[in-house]
Formats: sequence, structure tokens, C-alpha cells
Amino acid sequence: ERMVTGEIREEDITIEHSLRPTTLNQYIGQHKVKENLSVFIQAAKMREEPLDHVLLYGPPGLGKTTLAAIIANEMGVQFRSTSGPAIERAGDLAAILSSLEPGDVLFIDEVHRLPRAVEEVLYSAMEDFFIDIVIGTGPSARSVRIDLPPFTLVGATTRAGLLTAPLRDRFGVLSRLEFYETQDLCLIVERTAEIFHTSISKEAAMEVARRSRGTPRIANRLLKRIRDISQVKGEEEISIGSTDKALSMLQVDHVGLDHTDHKLIKGIIDSFNGGPVGLETIAATIGEEAQTIEDVYEPYLLQIGFIQRTPRGRIVTQKAYAHFGLKGHEES
Ligand code: ADP
Repeated sequence: ERMVTGEIREEDITIEHSLRPTTLNQYIGQHKVKENLSVFIQAAKMREEPLDHVLLYGPPGLGKTTLAAIIANEMGVQFRSTSGPAIERAGDLAAILSSLEPGDVLFIDEVHRLPRAVEEVLYSAMEDFFIDIVIGTGPSARSVRIDLPPFTLVGATTRAGLLTAPLRDRFGVLSRLEFYETQDLCLIVERTAEIFHTSISKEAAMEVARRSRGTPRIANRLLKRIRDISQVKGEEEISIGSTDKALSMLQVDHVGLDHTDHKLIKGIIDSFNGGPVGLETIAATIGEEAQTIEDVYEPYLLQIGFIQRTPRGRIVTQKAYAHFGLKGHEES
């Protein structure tokens, strides 16, 4: 299991609850998204209407679930949370929707993974707050209309492109979360340290921020491990020394990459002379799912300019060659 994946791991579950900011003001970074949401929330409150449906998209661990809960809190309504794959049948969705109070926020994580039949029921629910469901089978089957309280759907997905057009079109607000700036991530690390009742030097906090792939979940996870090492050393404050030691023990390099990233990049260099090479071919070569590479590994590598997408496939950049101390391939 990877230390630097933005996807949730077993060890995150216990700490994440206590780390979640509860208001927009406490939510660090993502300035554009926050500014937009803040206006929409205020306007909806003034009109005494539920907020428009919101789609949050971006790589795992950037704060989509956190933001959804903040929206509910700021609107002063209940937060109900589920995920696309968890809603197996239209009846499951009907049960959830009809239990909502007016104005509630229903959060559906991995909304692109809703079964098609469920998704189709969601259309009228989102648009006009009713659903038609079929009860019974065969000749005795009949359709029943159920009116719903007005609600706000907050959907989350790793990529907006994975959504069907009819679903995407029903969201009034589309917000893309970006990888965090090092400065913002540093503030998150310092905030987390405070909640952990530990202190950390500025230098060490910046180092964690630089090596966390712009992802709060990774920063918090790494900080927890670093704190252990620092405590064992008897430090009063987490130092740059123990931070560095812990991160090399965890095999996280200076830009936050691990053996999986190395395998991916080296795979393209060694087997395909740096590319261009298609995603499916890379996936087969290094034995990973193409979808996982695209959603989890690749976004950060693209962000830091280690790989590039071209019409003919992925290429490893000179910057990545330099990172590995290799001489770059000749441009053809
Ligand atoms: P996602 O739903 O996008 O996978 P989460 O909302 O579960 O991500 O966030 C992962 C962790 O990172 C949570 O513990 C949360 O507290 C923390 N986090 C995310 N965004 C922020 C932020 N802007 N400020 C502070 N902490 C954050």
C-alpha cells in the first residue's frame, strides 16, 4: 500500500474526523472555489432556498468530502453522506431521498459510479424534486410518483469527464479542486500539528508540505508518522532532522514521489525511451490499472511537469530525467 496516495487508507479514518474544518473560514486554500461557494451560499440563504446542486471534482484527498460537510454546516442543514457504488437500486435512492428534510445536503461520493438505473431516477429528483419509481413486476407493475423535499445534491468525482452529460448538466455549480500551494499546505500541516497537541518548526512544516503532493490527506498522514519519530527522539518540537529522517524511511523523495512513481517514470524511460507511449501500454508494462494511473498517480506528475500528455501518448520530460540524474532523450 502506498504512503503517498491521496486515496483514503485504513490509518486515516480515525484521525480525519478530528481534522475536518467545519466552516469555510477554517478551510485553507482553494481560494477561488471558496469565494464562489461563499457567494452562492449567501444568496441561497437570502432567498431562503436550498443551494443549487454542486459538483466537486479533483484528485482524491483534496477536501471534497470536507467541503460538502462545510456547505451543509454553512447552510444550517443536515449533512447526509453516501457513495455511488453504495446505492445499488433505485429503491435505495428513493429511501434516502424521501428521508431528507427540506434544504438538506445529500453528499454522493464517487457520483460517476452510480448504477445507470439509479442515475436516471436522480434526474427528476435533482430537477423537479420528485421521483417515479416502478413498484411490482409484470402486468401488476405500476409507476408511483413520490414528491421530495427540496434538497441540495453535492456530488464528488475524481474527474468531471467520467460523468454522463445529463447528470453533469443538472449541477448548477461545478467546482474543480486544485492541488494545494506549498504555502497553504504548510498552514494545514501547522493546523494539524496544533490539533495533535504537537509543535513543529516552520522549516519542518514547509518540508512536509513540499513532499505531500499538494494533498492535505497525504500531509496529515505523513505528519502523524513524523510525529512518532520525533517523539521517540524526545524532541519538544518536530525538527527538520526528524522530518527528513522519517520521510526517507517512508521512501518519500524530495518532491513527494515514491517507488510507484519511480516505477512509472522509469518504465517509460527504460521501455519506451521516454515516450510517447499510450496509457494502456504503460499500464500493462508496469502492471497497474490504466484508470488508477490516470486518476491517482498521473495528476500530480502532470502538475509538477514530470510527464506530459501529447496526442501520441505520455512523454517523460527533461525535468523528470534531471530528477533521476539521467541524461534526457533526444527530441525527435
Ligand atoms: P476528498 O473527499 O477530496 O478525498 P477529504 O475531504 O476527505 O478529501 O479530505 C482529506 C483530509 O484532508 C481530511 O481529513 C481533511 O480534514 C483534510 N483537509 C482537506 N482539505 C482541507 C483544507 N482545505 N483545510 C484543512 N484540512 C483539509
